Amino acid sequence: MSENREPRRPRRTTVQLVSGLDPDVCYRALKSRDARFDGRFFVGVTSTKIYCRPICPAGPARRENCRFFASAAAAQEAGFRPCLRCRPEVAPDVGSWRGTSNTVARGLAMIADGALDGDDASVDDLAERLGVGGRQLRRLFQQHLGASPISVAQTRRVLFAKQLIHDTRLPMAEIALAAGFGSVRRFNETFQQLFRRPPSAIRRKTIASLPEGSVGATGVTVRLRYRPPYDWPAMLAFFRARAIDGVEQVDDAIYRRTVHHDGSLGTVEIAHVPSSHCVSATIRVDDVRALPRIVSRIRTVFDLGADVVAIGAHLAGDPRLAPLVAARPGLRAPGGWDGFELAMRAVLGQQVTIEAARRLLSQLTRLCGTRMHNRGEPGLAMAFPTAAQVARADLASLGMPGARKQALVAIAEAALADPLLFEPLDTVEDTVARLRAIRGIGDWTAHYIALRAAREPDAFPSSDIGLLRGAAIARTAVTRAGERPTPAALHAYAERWRPWRAYAAQYLWAADGTIT
Ligand SMILES: [Zn+2]
Repeated sequence: MSENREPRRPRRTTVQLVSGLDPDVCYRALKSRDARFDGRFFVGVTSTKIYCRPICPAGPARRENCRFFASAAAAQEAGFRPCLRCRPEVAPDVGSWRGTSNTVARGLAMIADGALDGDDASVDDLAERLGVGGRQLRRLFQQHLGASPISVAQTRRVLFAKQLIHDTRLPMAEIALAAGFGSVRRFNETFQQLFRRPPSAIRRKTIASLPEGSVGATGVTVRLRYRPPYDWPAMLAFFRARAIDGVEQVDDAIYRRTVHHDGSLGTVEIAHVPSSHCVSATIRVDDVRALPRIVSRIRTVFDLGADVVAIGAHLAGDPRLAPLVAARPGLRAPGGWDGFELAMRAVLGQQVTIEAARRLLSQLTRLCGTRMHNRGEPGLAMAFPTAAQVARADLASLGMPGARKQALVAIAEAALADPLLFEPLDTVEDTVARLRAIRGIGDWTAHYIALRAAREPDAFPSSDIGLLRGAAIARTAVTRAGERPTPAALHAYAERWRPWRAYAAQYLWAADGTIT
């Protein structure tokens, strides 16, 4: 079975609940409103048929009336409806399945991308894309989330719609479309059934000050929560150093960029709201149906779902890494907005400085990217080129070796031939092997793409010079003379960091100073 080849589980820590919830631990967390458990479980109250986050201001129900669920979908599948006070839809997205089942993680990412929306979508097709059988997929979802893939998709639609109703003044018809309901009628029926009231009755009166109108005209702002701590300055500095002219703009507080999804152009703007443990994302896009995918990208790029406390506890088990972990609480792994874009960044970043790579990427964008219509946002004039644009472009004027230009074209052609090229496979080794089959992609590039684009938490480009220098500073895998390790030695040493080697890499890069 493919699951047997998955990375080893991280060590259990006091806040970790893997596969199966301990009701006593859950009830204790509930009584103390322990924020560390927010997003890790939900509590259904049998006397009210409502389910809550562990931090609900309404306070805990009696022990005998509480049922605990690993996911919101499991609570809804069992007939509970979301609480209107603690709002399960805004709980941080930190599942206990992370690091334990790649298949579940990949399946959830595809569902968030709309894989089970629409009348012709099926669980068997999703399973096939994931390389498992339909029955196996249902079993894995049941084991890790306590709910079926269909329930997860339905719950995601309802909760996303509920968040948009609550936090925006988007017209209801647009919300129905954005959340993947297919029709306004189905949207109304679902809400009537679940909340015993129409969607409009859920809308708060306090949002009257928000701009009213479609997502294309006024944009929509949603708040996306994470589990603290969050090293925002490190994240922003990473993007600032790599910002592509015309595509991205990063100042002291805000990240802005243009986006391009299935022919729909737009912009996003991300700011940190530390007091609420969330980022605020303002999205402007022509087609409202692109909204869930853009939200899911933002979560990935800013690594909002990472359980940094559990990951840090695992990595600090290595005494040589422990001081680095302690020095940078909340350090996360920045992601790539788009697999193809990230692959271009990886190739153009080979053996040059970050600044030189940035200039080459800006030049590539000017050569063949899409010019944005005037949206009144100076500095955001270009969308990053698509694979088709790069495949057709004349790259002669790019100041770099011919072999690397050929690699850009080879990746563009491979991406056109296989739209799933940058999605993770069952194991990090499989993901890397598929990428390495492309001419011009070596081990470093493949691991780098796996880490930032496929979001493999266990990817580790062990030949990276910054990692080798960071390893020497941390004295991990060093030679007897205390010198920089060989890539093979670092690779062997890194075994103890599985399944979170990508995060160990962030700490080593931070030690070396290459993170910014
Ligand atoms: Zn509640």
